[in-house]
Formats: sequence, structure tokens, C-alpha cells
Amino acid sequence: MRYVELRSDTMTRPTPAMRKAMADAEVGDDVFGEDPTVNRLEATAAERLAKAAALFVPSGTMANLVSQMAHCGRGDEMILGSLAHSFYYEQGGSAAVASIHPRTVPNHPDGKLPLDVLEAAIRGDNIHFPRTRLISLENTHNLCGGAPLDPVYLRSVGDIAHRHGVKLHIDGARLFNAAVALGVPARQLSVEADSISFCLSKGLAAPVGSVVCGSTEFIQAARRARKVLGGGMRQAGVLAAAGLVALNEMVDRLAEDHANARRLADGLAGIAGLKLDPERYITNIIYFDVVKPDLNATELAAALQKEGVRMLASGPRTLRAVTHYEVTAVDIEYALSVMAKVIK
Ligand SMILES: *Cc1c(COP(=O)(O)O)cnc(C)c1O
Repeated sequence: MRYVELRSDTMTRPTPAMRKAMADAEVGDDVFGEDPTVNRLEATAAERLAKAAALFVPSGTMANLVSQMAHCGRGDEMILGSLAHSFYYEQGGSAAVASIHPRTVPNHPDGKLPLDVLEAAIRGDNIHFPRTRLISLENTHNLCGGAPLDPVYLRSVGDIAHRHGVKLHIDGARLFNAAVALGVPARQLSVEADSISFCLSKGLAAPVGSVVCGSTEFIQAARRARKVLGGGMRQAGVLAAAGLVALNEMVDRLAEDHANARRLADGLAGIAGLKLDPERYITNIIYFDVVKPDLNATELAAALQKEGVRMLASGPRTLRAVTHYEVTAVDIEYALSVMAKVIK
């Protein structure tokens, strides 16, 4: 059975061009720095985000953790959003593995951290306090409905961080979705960041991998951290080859995913028994609530799945749908017709 797969953009499978590039990839030992395809991916990523250097890592989780480890020492504090992926979905690795103390600031629903609250959270010099070393933002914001952070906001946060001698990391798992939705080059979203990561394996459709970009010194430290975490890969060029196709061929088409998500949101908003504000969603992630008393999110997801549509129950009454490369406009119409049918 073919499913309209809306649970996650991580479900994308490598494109034919990626499989060909993987088969043909020139490789070497990347721990020795000798994999030409990995080196090419890192150079391409660094250039794209206007940073001096980049590092290929197996996952977005590792991209965040190596960045945190490069910026912070044992007992240092990192400020991040209460709904940040790094805080919520990474097993508390910053604390568990890297001995970094996380301090959360409540996320506004648009993914931002209020500037006054953020600045007030930075610690002064006091023997009782941990030292604030890092602020971490998320762009687009997963749990905040794929909301993008714009260059003006990023500039304000960068100003605050750097005025206090604190580094800024941006978890840009879906950075290119933000760039496409805002109509700006990705490098405008990386200017303020001391480090910035993005996933190749989500909407860009590569099978594996993330890249983190920053200064040469930062990348040296991140490379050491990657090794101790077991992320030093050998002939990783077979993976980087797909990543290069992702960067070169899969970015501009994200606009289609955004259009499909918007059509889905508008359609869902018109179905009695569901509640959402479609105006909120301008990238590829939407959340909506089931408001029928006799139906919860898990039951609705199960009923949809029987009809070939997969969405994620992300709360007792909340579902998530994410559009991507393998979901067409026709699929969206089908998903809406199934939703209208099963909700009755
Ligand atoms: C998916 C995601 C990650 C982690 O990526 P993995 O490759 O699954 O480890 C990090 N941050 C955000 C915002 C994400 O959406």
C-alpha cells in the first residue's frame, strides 16, 4: 500500500541523482581528512553559509552536541528555548554527555525568545553562578510550527550575545526552509551565528547527515568532539555525495513543500472537528487539534493510516503533518478527502 507520508520530512528517500552520486563517489578516510567528497561537501556548506569551515556529522543531534561541546566547558551554561529540539528531543545530551547546564527561556509561539527575557537570563560574574557561554536558537522552529527566524531578529540576538561575550549557535535543522520561506539567501541567516548546523536528511532528502559551520578554530574543536562521540566516519564520501546533491538540487524546490503545507492547513481549517490557524504556517510543518469529544489524536491518526494517510499524534489532541519531497499536491487533496471522511 502506498501511504501519503506526512509524519516527518525525515521520511524522504534519496533521489535517483543521489543514488547515482553515491555509487560514483570518490572516497578516502575522512578521519585522516582524506575523503575528497566529504571535503567538497564541507567546503560547499561553508561557502553557502559564508563561514570559514564546516564539519560533516551523522545527525542533527550530533551537530548540536559537538557545537555545544566546542563552545562550552564543564559546568558552563547554555540558554535555549523551552521548546527547543536540543532541550526536548536530544535526551538532555548537553547535560548527560557534555556537563553543560541548560537554562530555558519560554519560547514565544513564533519560535522567538523574547529579547528582554533572553538578555536578563545571561549571568553576571558571581561565584554562585555557572558561566553563561552560549545562546542556542532554532530556525525553523520545529515545535513552534516550523516558524522561521528572520535576519532582523537574529541580528538583535547576535548583538545581545556578543555584547555579553556569549556565543550564538543556531540549530538550523531546517535552515533552508527558513531561507526559502523568507526569500533570503541562507547566508543572511548565518551572519550572527558563531556556529550553525543544518540537516541534509530532512526536506533536502539525503539519506543521512548534517553539517555544522563556523570559524576554523570552532570547527577544529567540533571535529575533536565528533571523534569522542564516535562520529568519526571513514569512507563517508558515499554519504556526502548525496549531501552535495541535496545542497545543489533540493533547496529551491522547498517552496513546493511550503505551498503544499499551506494548502493542507487551509483545507484542514475548513473541516468541522479540527482546529488550527492556517495563517501561522509558512514552511512545511503544521500542527492542529482535534476538538471532537469522542476522538483523540492517536485514534484519528490510526483511522487516517487505514486509509493510506500518515500523520503524527504529537499530543493527546494534537497532530502534526509535515510536507516534503515525496508528497505531491495531489497527495494533499487525497489527505484532505480522507480527513473529511474519517472525522465524521
Ligand atoms: C530533526 C532535528 C534535529 C535533530 O536531527 P537528527 O538528525 O534527527 O538527530 C535537531 N534540531 C531540530 C530543530 C530538528 O528538527
